[in-house]
Amino acid sequence: MALGRAFSVAVTGVDGQLVEIEADVGRGLPGVSLVGLPDTALSEARDRIRAAVTNSGEKWPESRVTLALSPAMLPKVGSVYDLALAIAALNASGELPDHRLAGTILLGELALDGRVRAVRGVLPAVLAARTEGFARVVVPVESLTEAALVDDIEVFGAETLRHVCQWLRGEGSLVEPTGSVAPSRAPGPDLVDIVGQVEARWAAEVSAAGGHNMMLVGPPGTGKTMIAQRIPGLLPVLSERESIEVSAIHSVAGILDPKEPLVTNPPFVAPHHTSTITSLIGGGTGMARPGAVSRAHRGILFLDECPEFGTRVLDALRTPIEEGEVRIARRDGVARYPARFQLILAANPCPCAAAKDKDCTCQSTLRSRYLGRISGPLMDRVDLKIVMRPEASGRLLDADGEPTSVVRSRVVAARCAAAERWQSFGWTTNAEVPGNVLRGRFRPSNRAIADLETGMRRGLLTARGADRTLRVAWSICDLRGGTALKPDDVASALMFRERGSA
Ligand SMILES: [Zn+2]
Repeated sequence: MALGRAFSVAVTGVDGQLVEIEADVGRGLPGVSLVGLPDTALSEARDRIRAAVTNSGEKWPESRVTLALSPAMLPKVGSVYDLALAIAALNASGELPDHRLAGTILLGELALDGRVRAVRGVLPAVLAARTEGFARVVVPVESLTEAALVDDIEVFGAETLRHVCQWLRGEGSLVEPTGSVAPSRAPGPDLVDIVGQVEARWAAEVSAAGGHNMMLVGPPGTGKTMIAQRIPGLLPVLSERESIEVSAIHSVAGILDPKEPLVTNPPFVAPHHTSTITSLIGGGTGMARPGAVSRAHRGILFLDECPEFGTRVLDALRTPIEEGEVRIARRDGVARYPARFQLILAANPCPCAAAKDKDCTCQSTLRSRYLGRISGPLMDRVDLKIVMRPEASGRLLDADGEPTSVVRSRVVAARCAAAERWQSFGWTTNAEVPGNVLRGRFRPSNRAIADLETGMRRGLLTARGADRTLRVAWSICDLRGGTALKPDDVASALMFRERGSA
């Protein structure tokens, strides 16, 4: 009896967990059995790895091979273990030495001809390998740049199983990563392209400064989508930790650019209104995929024509908005995906989507009910509501708006000020601050909130509405470099509400 051993990583959600693979070559008729809870993908792996080994010029053991994956409760979905399974079997039959194998994680699917194929989730797997104290990871060569994003661990790219075998025998080398590429800010769409729409531009700036969810209402052609697309450009670039976090999610989603795998700009994700709950929130069969809310982590989730999404789909957004993450129960455990995004909603004022209000053909009841499809609890999370109107033609001439870079510098300064103020509470943006703190410990001067209190007394403003107004007022205050709320900040924030309720 001979034992072989190799290591791989299972990725659930964005969390990697060590998998140990033991191979036993014993007496008995030639054949392969897999111990654990193999799903169909894993039984297919049995035939694939045997073919890959033989076609690589290696000798498949001529007696019974038993392969066991542990711990037994791990998700064993997918083909990521192929390489480790093949190597463990060859190690058991004495074809491959132990010394390099012991500290090495092996990731990759095998093609029948022995090529090592790319898999999803390499980045979180390499992060887990480092946490587990492994010295090196072998990944499919396509994923080498992605794997190399992780510091303090050696990474090698493999093209074929044969190369890996030769490297383990000390007879050849694997591909090593080339120097890291300095991330650059990709030039996105610029605010300067937007003609007029002074209020919406200002709202975008305030929304970016405070991390406020925002809703834009207006007929087609007013530039709702253009405004939304420009918000990521107003946000600061992601910190190193955030970049790795976002890249790991995109790796699991299979949407990383293999040449430039580090995501440094806040993502912009715009699912279509026919999207299912699964595609929005995440899940699916096999290795679950992160949904739009997680692909938008640390960036913008834009829902155009949001009343068309359907109530159930919109309601499903509430949990990720409140908790900043999605948990999906799976047969083999819970998959966790971060989902901290800024929500931008856009809607036409009515279903007929006429370019001008006077051309609207909708019945007045239908018209008034249309935006009501968006539930109260969701709207409670939207601090800013803007009504956009078609620009009068004369305004086309005075296109003197600031470019994104100028606005961004104000936003970044405002965000720093807010982060510093809330630091000891664990919040980073004004949008996260609960109402009782705004009304309690950070209560503005009586003079500053006089208008707000009048509005509440007259029943024009609810308590929740007042909290939203205060959150927005702080962002306006931060943008002008203030340290305490002034009556003007509150008045400007109230203007957003009055316009919004128009
Ligand atoms: Zn209409």
